[in-house]
Amino acid sequence: MTVTAQPKASHFINGSYIEDKAGTPIPVIYPATGAQIATVHAATPAIIEQALQGARAAQAAWAKCSGTERGRVLRRAADIIRAHNRQMSELETLDTGKPLQETLVADASSAADALEYFGGLAGSLTGDHIPLGQDWAYTIREPLGVCVGIGAWNYPTQIACWKAAPALACGNSMVFKPSETTPLCALRVAEILIEAGAPAGLFNVVQGAGDVGAQLVTDPRVAKVSLTGSVPTGRKVYAAAAAEMKHVTMELGGKSPLIVFEDADLEDAIGGAILGNFYSSGQVCSNGTRVFVHKRLKEAFLGRLAERLKDVRIGDPLDETTNFGPMTSAAQLDIVKGYIATGQREGARLVAGGRYPEGPGFWIEPTVFADVTDDMTIAREEIFGAVMCVLDFEEEDDVIARANATQYGLSAGVFTRDLSRAHRVIARLEAGTCFINSYNDAPVEMPFGGVKMSGVGRENATAAIQHYSQLKSVYVRMGRVEAPF
Ligand code: NDP
Repeated sequence: MTVTAQPKASHFINGSYIEDKAGTPIPVIYPATGAQIATVHAATPAIIEQALQGARAAQAAWAKCSGTERGRVLRRAADIIRAHNRQMSELETLDTGKPLQETLVADASSAADALEYFGGLAGSLTGDHIPLGQDWAYTIREPLGVCVGIGAWNYPTQIACWKAAPALACGNSMVFKPSETTPLCALRVAEILIEAGAPAGLFNVVQGAGDVGAQLVTDPRVAKVSLTGSVPTGRKVYAAAAAEMKHVTMELGGKSPLIVFEDADLEDAIGGAILGNFYSSGQVCSNGTRVFVHKRLKEAFLGRLAERLKDVRIGDPLDETTNFGPMTSAAQLDIVKGYIATGQREGARLVAGGRYPEGPGFWIEPTVFADVTDDMTIAREEIFGAVMCVLDFEEEDDVIARANATQYGLSAGVFTRDLSRAHRVIARLEAGTCFINSYNDAPVEMPFGGVKMSGVGRENATAAIQHYSQLKSVYVRMGRVEAPF
């Protein structure tokens, strides 16, 4: 079967598709076959200029709409996305290689949730009234202006909407640059927003690699940058934004701990570890890739995990019975292969996977290492692929210290039946997004983000509003002004 997914043009600016073939061609590869399914072109300076001008013009008018009017557009977009869930899920699968079984429930639907949630909030985004005796003050919640969104390649539809929904709800406009690895889905989101009644120029998509992102970040017309990506990119983007004191949201990498105490429900803990390591073939920033299992439970955990791994179905991602897809790119597969080799070289015990099903496509088996120690490379560095590291522990204090001994702080999870221990341990873990007897849930109602090197700011929930708006304070004197002279 020949699969194609060629968009009408590379960019979506001012309400329409637009092409400039002078930009570097970017092949779009279907990860399951390695076949090229589309070509887009990186944005030229002229394209970037059009996108920023369009976003600026649209923002001024959009900010004048009432919150209820803005919210209506977002909620309509959510409905359109839900009505096209299958088509959008198929596009997500072609863009990323993630199995349709996942994309049907996790991607367009999460994008729709964000648009619905922030659409619902838009009408109630107000300032405060502050009584000050006979005087008073009030605050006005204002949009920031033109926002830039830059996405990673693992959740292209969701990332576009997690950034666009709160930005637009607050009265901003956005120029979004998807990862060059997955350029297709954001274009569809842009089309849908227009169909939902968004003004032309409100949400624009430009393609390109890091240099296009860098041009957007440094443009003086841009008020805010929201990046989802790795820590090294985050450092660069944060520094560039700081030069002009721009607002930032940084959703970066992680090496999160998942702690399984000896009293945990074994099946649930294994389920959490599977979700936290192998969903999306392990390409999830918040994954609990350091699985600390109490020594007394360790062999039972590994034995039962091996049994459950027999139910992995690796294959055609468009077949709904497939539950494990390829890596999203050949480059990422090579990185993961390198880490698996390093794990073996450094003495970790390979207990599952570690093999690469025949291509074409970028395949890997879900891989589990046991007897991993804290100093091993695979326990310290973000792999961003289907590699679970199982580490042993005995004491609560010790495992907390080891869990925190990382530059990252995105997520953390605890499995235990002891409620007070669960809350006590979570309170001491240095992570922004935590789970008790669960892993990797990301409902739009719950703030999402990291501490330490994993990020700045929060996405989702009312917390995101703080990061896409600013307060103007107004002091109102009711009496005479008493000056010293
Ligand atoms: P990268 O950091 O390589 O890239 C992220 C985005 O930034 C891409 O669109 C990239 O462009 C762009 N970019 C690269 N350099 C610059 C620059 N100098 N200025 C502006 N933009 C730039 O990350 P990946 O795409 O490889 O994604 C994987 C990483 O993302 C992992 O570390 C993962 O943990 C993290 N991530 C974090 C999430 C979170 O919410 N915390 C969620 C998902 C992923 P291009 O790649 O097209 O060249």
